[in-house]
Amino acid sequence: MKELSVDLPNNSYPIFIGQNILSDSSLIAPYVSGKQVMIVTNETIAPLYLEQAKKLFGAYQVDTVILPDGEEFKTLECLNHIYTALLTHRHNRTTTLVALGGGVVGDMTGFAAASYQRGVDFIQLPTTVLSQVDSSVGGKTGVNHALGKNMIGAFHQPNCVLIDIDTLGTLPDKELSAGLAEVIKYGLICDLPFFEWLENNMDKLLARDVEALIYAIETSCANKAKVVAQDEKEGGIRAILNLGHTFGHAIETEQGYGNWLHGEAVAAGTVMAADLSRRLGWISVDECDRVVSILEKANLPVTCPKDMPGQRFKELMAVDKKVLDGKLRLVLLKAMGEAVTTSDFAMEHLDATLMHLTN
Ligand code: NAD
Ligand code: MG
Repeated sequence: MKELSVDLPNNSYPIFIGQNILSDSSLIAPYVSGKQVMIVTNETIAPLYLEQAKKLFGAYQVDTVILPDGEEFKTLECLNHIYTALLTHRHNRTTTLVALGGGVVGDMTGFAAASYQRGVDFIQLPTTVLSQVDSSVGGKTGVNHALGKNMIGAFHQPNCVLIDIDTLGTLPDKELSAGLAEVIKYGLICDLPFFEWLENNMDKLLARDVEALIYAIETSCANKAKVVAQDEKEGGIRAILNLGHTFGHAIETEQGYGNWLHGEAVAAGTVMAADLSRRLGWISVDECDRVVSILEKANLPVTCPKDMPGQRFKELMAVDKKVLDGKLRLVLLKAMGEAVTTSDFAMEHLDATLMHLTN
């Protein structure tokens, strides 16, 4: 088993990564302070892992909430089911919420924990690649609004994160690939050697080779922890974690939640960010091609939705959270392995990227 630490001024916490971790009650014991636990999961994951998770917390009063499955249910309305369950079972301020599932369950459970009785503890048990390398770490929680993704939320760090890679055995291939988009992102934004390792080991990851998965997840979490430790609330550097996301969020919003997976939209968005970086002369044509190749190798989309014109991207990107004082800010590649957040690009270059990559 590997153990990493997310070091924050007030809330440091461990990430445990390994096999069969969901059976090890001794790991979680130090991170549950009260007697009550509320496990939040969804209809797909409950039949697979809920019994095991309940056993993990066998020493406590365990209650459960099973939400419908899907990004379209990441809403205030579904969040209310969690509050209702907590109140129905009389959970008090010492309760611990447990997120068992992917990023949707994790983000909602985290926000429920941030807000229930003004804030209670929570633990992440992420079961998708995406949630294991990204959403379970760093404390961003929240839900979607019809007018924008992740627009309602809070920063609330978990007490610990338990990553049992055995859970990936049941993950659909498409979801595995979507998670790899975020893994590739870490290489591109801040870890060139990792990017090169990924270029050489993508086949192993797709074949779910245990050692390769553990290495990729550990390295991704270490990179995320490093960035979050420098900037917990995204005043600056943390924004680089959103490489490809401003374009990707536009795709997700336009296509309707759930039609393009988050990671798929991020992949197409990463190609757009790389293309713009190339136009600015920051990366070479060859380097831009490497970005496209590795995403293709991971079975991810590298082109935009056919029916989405460039103008639509611009409209949707204008409401993105990274727009400050009316200026569009994007995460771009200064070099391979080095991202920056910047509004320092001529609109004509963005227009050229949109013209080149959209219809
Ligand atoms: P998800 O939670 O929808 O899970 C994907 C699908 O896989 C779902 O159908 C789920 O039920 C199923 N599933 C989960 N684990 C499984 C398993 N082990 N076996 C079989 N099926 C399984 O999607 P996701 O990609 O994990 O997360 C996406 C969400 O994460 C988005 O809402 C995104 O906004 C959010 N996110 C948050 C952060 C953050 O910092 N908080 C970062 C990145 C993404
Ligand atoms: Mg993401």
